[in-house]
Formats: sequence, C-alpha cells, structure tokens
Amino acid sequence: MEHPENDAEYKGLAVNAGVEQPSTINPYLKPRPRRHLMTAGEYVEGIVKGNITVLSQAVTLIESVRPEHEAIAQEVIEKCLPYSGRSVRIGISGVPGAGKSTSIDVFGIHVLEKGGKLAVLAIDPSSERSKGSILGDKTRMEKLAVHPNSFIRPSPTAGSLGGVARKTRETIVLCEAAGFDKIFIETVGVGQSETAVHSMVDFFLLIQLAGTGDELQGIKRGIMEMADGIIINKADGSNIDKANLAATQFRNALHLFPTPESGWTPKVLTYSGFYGIGIKEIWDMVDEYIAFVKENGYFDYRRNEQSKYWMYETINEHLRSSFYHNNTIAEMLQQRENDVLDGKLTSFVAAKQLLDEYFKLLK
Ligand code: GDP
Repeated sequence: MEHPENDAEYKGLAVNAGVEQPSTINPYLKPRPRRHLMTAGEYVEGIVKGNITVLSQAVTLIESVRPEHEAIAQEVIEKCLPYSGRSVRIGISGVPGAGKSTSIDVFGIHVLEKGGKLAVLAIDPSSERSKGSILGDKTRMEKLAVHPNSFIRPSPTAGSLGGVARKTRETIVLCEAAGFDKIFIETVGVGQSETAVHSMVDFFLLIQLAGTGDELQGIKRGIMEMADGIIINKADGSNIDKANLAATQFRNALHLFPTPESGWTPKVLTYSGFYGIGIKEIWDMVDEYIAFVKENGYFDYRRNEQSKYWMYETINEHLRSSFYHNNTIAEMLQQRENDVLDGKLTSFVAAKQLLDEYFKLLK
C-alpha cells in the first residue's frame, strides 16, 4: 500500500500561503531609550550625597574597559579625591574555607553597631570562571547584604592582578567620598593578591585555621610578615584546644621576625565567626592598632608610601599597555619573538630593537 503522503492530493506536499506578519510583534513595546551617560560632575554629586545607585554606577564605570568610560571614570576619581581618605581600611585574607565570608558578616555587623558605614570590596584575580567574583558575593554575607549602611561589591572581573587591584584601589576613593568610613578588602589567601591588598590598607588581618599542628609550614613567610593581626577561626566546640595551640605556635613564630616598621607587634587571637565568639576582641585590636600608629606617625607614613606605590604602578601599567597595544610594535614583536626562538637574535638585542622602534614612533 502506498504511503498517504505520496498522494498528489496530500496537502503536506503543497506550498501553502503563509500567515501575514503583524506590523509589530509586540505593539506595547517601546524602543528603550539609551541610558544617558551622566557627566563626571553628576556622578560626583550623587556620590558625595551618599547615593548608592550612583556609587554603583560609577564603580561599574571604573571597571569598564571602554575608553570613553575610562576617561569619565578618571575624572570622577579625581573629583572625589578631596573627599576621600577619611576611613579605616582593613585587608582580610585567608584561604578558601577559612571563613572569610562568615567572619566579614559578623565583623561587619559588629562595627556597624557602633555607627558609620561599611564597604566590602574584594580582589580576586582568579575569578575568571564566575565572571565577577565568588568573593564578596552578597549571598555569602547575608546579614551585611541587607544592612542599610553597607555596600558590598565583588572583585572586578578577572584580569591582570595589577589591573584588578588598581580598580579596587580606585573604588576605595569613591566609597570614601560616599561617606563609607570603614572599608574591608577581602582577598583569597593564595599568594600575590595579599601584596596588592597590603598596598592599600591600614591593617592587614590574616585568618588562619588550626590544623594538624604543622600549619605554620603552609603559609609563606612573606604573608605572615605582612599581617598586623593573625586570627584563628573556628575556635569552637572540640576545636578550641587546637586553636589555642595554633595561636601559641603563631606567637612563637612571630617572635622570630624583626619588629615591623610600624613598631606594632602583631597579635594572635582565636575566635569563632560562626558562633560570634571573640569578635569584639578583634575589633578592639584594630582600634588599638589605629590609635597606636596614628600616635607614632606610621599611619600617615604608610598612606603616603602607598600613594607613591600607586603612582608608580599606574605609570608602569600605562607604559606597558601603550607599548603592547601599539600595532607596529605588536607586529614586530611577533617577528622578533620568532627570531629569538630560532636563535637568530638574542633576547636582549630583540628587546632593544623593539624599544628603540617604540621610542622612535613616539617622536
Ligand atoms: P571563605 O571561603 O573563607 O569565605 O569561608 P566561609 O565563610 O564560606 O566558611 C567556610 C566554611 O567554614 C563554612 O561551612 C562555614 O560555615 C564554616 N565556618 C566559618 N566560620 C566558622 C566558625 O567560626 N566555626 C566553625 N565551626 N565553622 C565555621
């Protein structure tokens, strides 16, 4: 028997007239007006008034890589500078799982109880996969996220550590201009990013965990030397003894280091972020430190040193980007790289030729 679709009469084989297209798919939809980009002055006005929406938009501008955004962002930062600087900046570092989110949530609520406003920023150059950041994620700081006087901002999207850090540094300026008098900068404790955070904070807090007794081996000497306070988390339940033991070990280890430039001997405390034990003591330590370094002049000295550091960092970054983004250089770079790989040129000669060419192009 023949398949019914093979019948010449079968409608499915004929070309039918289509339905008519309506003039618009959704007659109620109006074309969205393009959001007008505010002027630098408008941004600054909003920020200085403490308008969080404007602050967020300005931070987005800082994070943008579009040249027209960058230009306004720089103007906004410059105009905000006179309003900035009046805050306490605290760096908080610890390996994943150390309890940074839990701790920042409780520390944050604790400091906000005394008044003022708190901004929580993050530096996480590794967060490519989440396009944004896992750090500073609002859902991880439940109480702070809904507090009217807090501002939580995840790390700028992945890029070079220097670039990510500079954007966070600039965001601090805007937050301070918006009246945030406490700034937390969170970073994952895995190496390089601590140095970046250290270069923009007044107090560096290192969260550690008590482990198997050899925890000291796990952290690099350089990171321990940066810490103004080491706090051992999860000192609760059956973990209390281990935490106390770890604290003793850290104290002993710190004795082996020379006294830091600040003249402040770093303290080691135990606490439990989850149960809210020992939180007050940590903030008393930070307060004590700030009073100490303001008294001996180190507070201003460190801030000046940091400004100097960021000036050079910014110069370095611009020079680097100007060189590598130059089309002639990019092309030549490829050729010279091949020459070096083929053994036709030494690295030094190749580099010299490229730099000479670059400087010639500048003239
Ligand atoms: P982060 O990765 O450093 O941000 O760490 P989290 O704050 O997400 O904490 C990691 C895990 O440790 C979570 O399961 C927390 O519940 C747990 N935790 C955090 N603080 C404490 C604490 O003080 N005591 C105990 N027992 N667990 C904690």
